[in-house]
Amino acid sequence: RFSFFVGGNWKANGNKESVKKLVQELNDAKLEEDVDVVVAPPYIYLDSVLNTLTKRIEVSAQNSWVGKGGAFTGEISAEQLKDLGVEWVILGHSERRHVIGEKNEFIGKKAAYALSNGLKVMACVGELLEEREAGKTTEVVFEQLKAYADEVPSWKDVVIAYEPVWAIGTGKVASPQQAQEVHAEIRKWISDNVSAEASSQTRIIYGGSVNAANSSELAKQEDIDGFLVGGASLKGPDFAAICNSVT
Ligand code: 13P
Repeated sequence: RFSFFVGGNWKANGNKESVKKLVQELNDAKLEEDVDVVVAPPYIYLDSVLNTLTKRIEVSAQNSWVGKGGAFTGEISAEQLKDLGVEWVILGHSERRHVIGEKNEFIGKKAAYALSNGLKVMACVGELLEEREAGKTTEVVFEQLKAYADEVPSWKDVVIAYEPVWAIGTGKVASPQQAQEVHAEIRKWISDNVSAEASSQTRIIYGGSVNAANSSELAKQEDIDGFLVGGASLKGPDFAAICNSVT
């Protein structure tokens, strides 16, 4: 129904030298035809990555301002990203929620603003360990989904990234069953609260300690339509292997 989707979230990693090397590795990699690949470098490297990638890999920012640009020191607007040639933005990442303190409503507004300026959005959701242990996983994830649904007029350019916070950067990947269970709940929520069409057309990708060794098993799950990769996206060959793991 749609292509597998793999995003590489570089977070605040790298320098000019390592970014150059990583782009070279991506340019040299053999990527399967039927997979959409997107990389998200830090803002300061977006322009050089856009200008040096030769593969059909799209480029994403890791954040954008909630509204029109102006007197917002340190922020980058959706208009500016679009102007540069950036096609995607990651919003609602757990590090922005739990380290920086962004709230559901603010994130929903960011998503709507980015979409209205022609960016496509990787909209992240995911529960904390304590929320999972308290049996609140779906409650938390549904609230996060609702905050997006309340603001965005269409889900056409949205990819949902389910990233359980306890799995991010910990080496504790969700089991294929754990991930599939939440992905299926998310798909049902979209069907019940947005539309059957959005439910069947929206890609739901998994993130949290995905690597070249565990991606194939996860990719076999019915409702896992791709990945959002952190650490392993910093190594070109590993990232390419994850991109090709569906085949
Ligand atoms: P890791 O793959 O390093 O666990 O990070 C996942 C992530 O947060 C991607 O956005």
